[in-house]
Amino acid sequence: MSSSPSSSPDPWSTPILHIDLDAFFASVEILDNPSLKGRPVCVGGSGERGVIASASYEARRFGVRSAMASSVARRLCSDLVILPGRFDRYEEYSSRFHEVLGDVTWRTEPLGLDEAFLDLSVAQRVLSNPLEAAASVRSRLRDELGLDSAVGVARNKLFAKLASKRAKPRFSAAGVSEGAGVLWVTPELESRWLDTLGVGELWGVGPATSRKLARLGVIHVRDLRHVDEDLLAGHLGSALSRTLSEFARGEDSRVVESSREAKSVGHEETFAVSVSDDATIEEALRRHAGVVARALRERHLLARRVTVIARDDELRTRSRSQTLNFGLDDEGALGEVACALGLSLERTLALRLLGIHVSQLEARAGSSIQLSFDVGSDPSAGSPAPEVSRRHQIDQAALRDAVDDIRRRFGASVLGRGSQLREGHLKVSAQRSDTPFGPAREEP
Ligand SMILES: [Mg+2]
Repeated sequence: MSSSPSSSPDPWSTPILHIDLDAFFASVEILDNPSLKGRPVCVGGSGERGVIASASYEARRFGVRSAMASSVARRLCSDLVILPGRFDRYEEYSSRFHEVLGDVTWRTEPLGLDEAFLDLSVAQRVLSNPLEAAASVRSRLRDELGLDSAVGVARNKLFAKLASKRAKPRFSAAGVSEGAGVLWVTPELESRWLDTLGVGELWGVGPATSRKLARLGVIHVRDLRHVDEDLLAGHLGSALSRTLSEFARGEDSRVVESSREAKSVGHEETFAVSVSDDATIEEALRRHAGVVARALRERHLLARRVTVIARDDELRTRSRSQTLNFGLDDEGALGEVACALGLSLERTLALRLLGIHVSQLEARAGSSIQLSFDVGSDPSAGSPAPEVSRRHQIDQAALRDAVDDIRRRFGASVLGRGSQLREGHLKVSAQRSDTPFGPAREEP
């Protein structure tokens, strides 16, 4: 397991990079208005219930952090400049950022606007080694975009993400100093982190999970190794407990999934008896939403596009899709969107098949920033942990807008009841009726 300190590990044993732009929104604002340079700058809501989305390092010196209530931030730093977000501008910079990454390897996995994982193993023949590639991509971002970044170089996603965080600039009340910029996770560093790392620093562990773990006596990652897996699963669910046990051994089975490879996730059901009434259709869609949302969460994904598919008794297939401006992995929200789409489908006959597919998948970032500022936040929560960000991502207003948009585009179903009363008693195979949620994939 341990390698002798004198032997230098092969950089190609650590081909995974995590790149994170520094204080992205605030940095773009400063680039566009250089008079802000050196001042404490934030992007966020300045109103009564505003929340900070991004803080420059100068602002962080005063204790200002993202996800903090703006009123608290202003109390900490009276000179704080709070700017409203300009998402068009951030998206321009973001797409240039992802273009630069795409020059390094085709296997890049964007995590929101300002972060990505890269797998360099597929570009081994054209790159000298991952450390040099990390340094060069960093200087390209600096030269071409004017943006600073931090890069973690590691064996897997777990360590790469931890490393980019440690490579960030450092700040204290006294000032801001440069960070390492690139941090390479050697085997020595891996084992040191596994021994000393707080469990709250792991992907997927937010304040609520941290509290549960603390009750089980798990404070550090190393403590996870001594907890019974069944006990852990009982408290956290099997998916998360399996992931955490893996992390505790330094393993991370998640691969870098480029958007080119990303597939859709879906669930369909062929009914034993064709259905025609709205209530049954809604009920089926909500059930499917639960299955799809669970699959997304297990894969640490968010979906931005939702499609509802229906096939009627004459085997005509219809579908309706909606692209959202936020990613979903929550069954309630997914169910709302799916029902709005499903009920807007033109139906003259009863339906024999109904399904939900989600696409435009993106990895759920451990510290994703919500694109909505005024959703109210719990300032005591500190950094936006996954639970917190998930709750905020799907704030009710955004969801309502999305559902209204669907209704505006497609109209609600206004078909007469008479046509819906036709009963199609469709026989399905024993295998299908044994599957409570219907077959995973249905092909005629
Ligand atoms: Mg960032």
